[in-house]
Amino acid sequence: METLRQIRTKNSYFLLLSLLWITLLSSSISATSPLSQSNQGTEQHATSPAQDKSQVHEVHCSRERSRAAWKVVEEYLMPFVEKEKYELPRQCRLHPSNDLFRDQEEHKIHLDVNEWRCGYCRKSFRAEKFLDQHFDNRHSNLLDADHSKCLADVCGALHCDLVMEIKSKKTKCNPAAAARNRHLCEGLADKCFPANQSPSSTRLHELFLRQFCDAHTCSGGGKPFSRGGKKHTNRFYLAASVLTLMLLPLFYLIVYLYQREIKRGTQELKRIAKVGRKAKPS
Ligand SMILES: [Zn+2]
Repeated sequence: METLRQIRTKNSYFLLLSLLWITLLSSSISATSPLSQSNQGTEQHATSPAQDKSQVHEVHCSRERSRAAWKVVEEYLMPFVEKEKYELPRQCRLHPSNDLFRDQEEHKIHLDVNEWRCGYCRKSFRAEKFLDQHFDNRHSNLLDADHSKCLADVCGALHCDLVMEIKSKKTKCNPAAAARNRHLCEGLADKCFPANQSPSSTRLHELFLRQFCDAHTCSGGGKPFSRGGKKHTNRFYLAASVLTLMLLPLFYLIVYLYQREIKRGTQELKRIAKVGRKAKPS
């Protein structure tokens, strides 16, 4: 026999459990939604294209390749530079001030998977590429279009293709191109980490050669980024463990409450039975 209260508490457990499932499901959905941006977004400003055109400056530097080069520097060089507490000289082409797009890239606000905001004028976009277009159309006047500041130009030395995820078909190694990239690479090492300037500079010079330059050869030399890069904590595992930590106490609370209710229910039954037995005799 179920008393009314037992039914009520059971119902509330079901409600709690289903709520739990809903939170779990919705969080997993948001975690698995694709990171690649949808193409539905359009630039949301009301000015005419003619107005935009007047502001377009001629910039002959690939934003994508500059971004790739920056990514390589951040992942595979800066951890070591920071460890040595070394400061890149201004004449080093990898210095942040020598990246044409650095300021714009730092004015990107990534709010959500499908929401990017312009840090200059606060306009929102559904994908990073639309924000890139917006920068080109509306804020290119902020670019100091100095050719020497194109980070994409050192992509050959930095193996940008490896981080750009454009799996190029296995092309035959071109000895002339490899030699050119090696030369560019060694030039970067000399400019950014002048040997014999300081112990840390010498160490970083060596590291730069091993990390980036050794692989520029057709004779099967070392692999690029052989010294490793920045350690990543997997975002999915982080989210999962935070969620588990949050939900575990809730789960135990529910179990505890449920058991308490059952205990109370059986005690009540016992009392009823006792009363029934007392009322029975003779
Ligand atoms: Zn803007």
